[in-house]
Amino acid sequence: MSGPLLQVEKLVKHYPLGGGIFNKVPPVVRAVEDVSFTVNAGETLCIVGESGCGKSTIARLLMRLVDPTGGRVLLEGNDIASLNKNELRDWRRRMQMVFQDPYSSLNPRLTAGQIITEPVENFERLNRRKREYLAAELLRKVGLAPEIMHRLPSELSGGQRQRLGIARALSLKPSIIIADEAVSALDVSVQAQILNLLMDLQEETGIAFVFISHDLGVVEHIGHRVAVMYLGRIVELATCEALFANPIHPYTEALIAAAPIPDPTRVQLEALVEGEVPSPVSPPSGCAFHPRCPLVQDRCRVDVPPLVSMPDGRAVACHVRAPAGKIEHN
Ligand code: ADP
Ligand code: MG
Repeated sequence: MSGPLLQVEKLVKHYPLGGGIFNKVPPVVRAVEDVSFTVNAGETLCIVGESGCGKSTIARLLMRLVDPTGGRVLLEGNDIASLNKNELRDWRRRMQMVFQDPYSSLNPRLTAGQIITEPVENFERLNRRKREYLAAELLRKVGLAPEIMHRLPSELSGGQRQRLGIARALSLKPSIIIADEAVSALDVSVQAQILNLLMDLQEETGIAFVFISHDLGVVEHIGHRVAVMYLGRIVELATCEALFANPIHPYTEALIAAAPIPDPTRVQLEALVEGEVPSPVSPPSGCAFHPRCPLVQDRCRVDVPPLVSMPDGRAVACHVRAPAGKIEHN
């Protein structure tokens, strides 16, 4: 296959709000605004940003659980919007999702074995022997003992339940998994185990991940590239290495400065950001970050900064740090 595995082009999602009757333009939540990125086979692309910046909406758009207001999603060159029902089934087979809260995403009345073999049984009938064989195989893949297949989710720990969620996602041998805050509910030590499991699985199978998290420490551990989001837009997209060594967007810089990173050699920057994240119903004009930005200039209040490609290959949307005149990222 040539070209990226997953291609996201100018994706927009506005959720309508009630109460538009007396307004000419009904109010909308601008959850995702003009987001473009690619994911290559075998790669982990992280999406990071504060709560409410649009991360889960992107996950839902990728899975076509909601329809976009604009833009397109292509998997292996095929536009998700053009798929009929059968093709969409096949799409969901190749693109699976792992959720934050394994407990609420696992049917409490099914055994672990039934949970992880259910996706396969939607495509083919399994007899008991086949089902148990498949369940044991999937449990082994995620580091769980085969005996667990007879237990209910309530009889498992948080880490075991998340492994189960991963086993279920793996059952159809997808080429990409969308993981939305997949380790956020877990203790730090369990988080590290799950992240290492995902990285081992990637090495073994060449699976790609879109890994969504609000936690920069987690992103630094698992990511190849990172997209930093602020109020529905990507403000910086770079390799993990470049982003953490040398953040360019003032928001990225502030996020990294605020993150408790256990690295004594890193100089802790003074926290740059004050104030709350504005509402995506009425985002600030120009650059949405301008009211909180220490580098703000007049232009930032008026024009939305485009995502500009930098010489080192990253892309940054900032009038001050990435002035236009360079090639635009698309
Ligand atoms: P994140 O996952 O980064 O926390 P979300 O994608 O869940 O962000 O939400 C982005 C914005 O869209 C938030 O302001 C949220 O309140 C809003 N939002 C999400 N889903 C809906 C919905 N179904 N209807 C209206 N607004 C929504
Ligand atoms: Mg979310």
